[in-house]
Amino acid sequence: MKQTLIIANWKMNGSILANSKLLTGMLKFSNTANTELVICPPFPYLHQVKEYIVGSNIKLGAQNVNENNSGSYTGEVSADMLKEFYCRYVLVGHSERRSLFQESNGIIAKKITQAMDAGLTPVLCIGESLAQREKGDAQSVILEQLSCVINDIGLKKFKSVVIAYEPIWAIGTGQTASPEQAQKVHRMIRQYIYGLDPILSKNISILYGGSVNEINAAELIKQKDIDGFLVGGASLKPDSIETICKLKI
Ligand code: PEP
Repeated sequence: MKQTLIIANWKMNGSILANSKLLTGMLKFSNTANTELVICPPFPYLHQVKEYIVGSNIKLGAQNVNENNSGSYTGEVSADMLKEFYCRYVLVGHSERRSLFQESNGIIAKKITQAMDAGLTPVLCIGESLAQREKGDAQSVILEQLSCVINDIGLKKFKSVVIAYEPIWAIGTGQTASPEQAQKVHRMIRQYIYGLDPILSKNISILYGGSVNEINAAELIKQKDIDGFLVGGASLKPDSIETICKLKI
């Protein structure tokens, strides 16, 4: 059976002191949680987080990776560098990267290739805006985001990707998708993958993200096609992330 995956996206938050308090709290429950917990801190704190989590069940991830291997890309970080810093996962195509940094589906596919070539598990973030949902375009937007990557990297490589469905209107807004709304999209994604590869559709992890917290997570995780969460704001609160990681599945 797939293990429930909880990914903590700290975004551009934290400090050495704040991180150490948060990590001390997380280490207290991590070995008793029945989920795989991954922390994605900002780049400068990768080493600090690694030092805390070594020997625990917690895994390390990054929030972004460059689509090139090395070279003159000032300010960027390569997949091999992340691997050297003990990252196992990397978020790719988060909606904030798509909208604030103009990341296209093509660039996202290149990032996924870089991540996989370095031995990292890419977490492909997809999701529609409120305007797209209201126009009835949610499904086509999501399938376009998925198919662009699959066509580019090939189905064989796609087998190692984790998908995170994150409706943009739910990210950081406190307005989460209802369990029914989320399940409907997750089911649609799984059915699409079933059409390409029935076995993959069972094995692939499809996470939900968008204002997940210690209150709404319990109902969301009961949905058949939700395999875990990508958590932003609530991952900065030790009590909230503890409750989410200890959910009865
Ligand atoms: C995210 O950063 O991917 C996210 C889902 O944030 P939040 O949980 O704060 O909505």
